Amino acid sequence: MLTIERRPMLIAFSSPSGAGKTSITRRLLGLDEQVRLSVSWTTRPIRPGEIDGQDYTFVDQATFDAKVAADGFLEHAGVFGKSYGTPRDYIEEAMAEGHDVLFDIDWKGMQQLRARMPDDVVTIFILPPSKSHLEERLRRRAQDDEETVARRMAEANDEISHWAEYDYVIVNDFLERALQEAREIISAERLRRHRQPGLVPFVQKMMAEF
Ligand code: 5GP
Repeated sequence: MLTIERRPMLIAFSSPSGAGKTSITRRLLGLDEQVRLSVSWTTRPIRPGEIDGQDYTFVDQATFDAKVAADGFLEHAGVFGKSYGTPRDYIEEAMAEGHDVLFDIDWKGMQQLRARMPDDVVTIFILPPSKSHLEERLRRRAQDDEETVARRMAEANDEISHWAEYDYVIVNDFLERALQEAREIISAERLRRHRQPGLVPFVQKMMAEF
């Protein structure tokens, strides 16, 4: 099969907690073998059901700060009073191997990523279909108590206020459709001319044959 050399891209997903961003990124990972998922570092406590090294790498503040000082993060931000960051080495390795990388990060992280690598970043915001859907999903998780749910709703309001800064916006009222839309965005973005450096030699060769 003919393959044209292309540049990998970084696909940043943001949304308020409970809008389904984690479900979408996990499903994409299973469906598309060209993508990898960035596993962030965080100082927040591990939740029941989460796996260290898979959902996040859970570290204490001193370990996090030492990595910041060593310039070990591609981006990092304070979210909900805890520190979150994207370790640089994994991303660089994945890109060198030709993989696209999915990120589940907040709007501050998205802005840093975009400022750092403007040509390689694609940003997608996932909106819930309504406030009540979001609240229900947060409550159904049952990992958080009422006070936490109320705080997360206030934080959701802040996160949603940044929706217009993103390249694409998906309203997730039905997971399968939202997933399909995310796949269509990724397919189209892969075909952007600047992401296909292999086109130049390919077309040159073809033109020489005319
Ligand atoms: P949670 O604690 O619910 O897993 O995540 C809280 C928020 O932190 C989410 O909006 C999530 O997207 C964001 N987040 C997770 N990892 C990172 C990261 O590495 N960098 C940034 N900037 N935000 C992150």
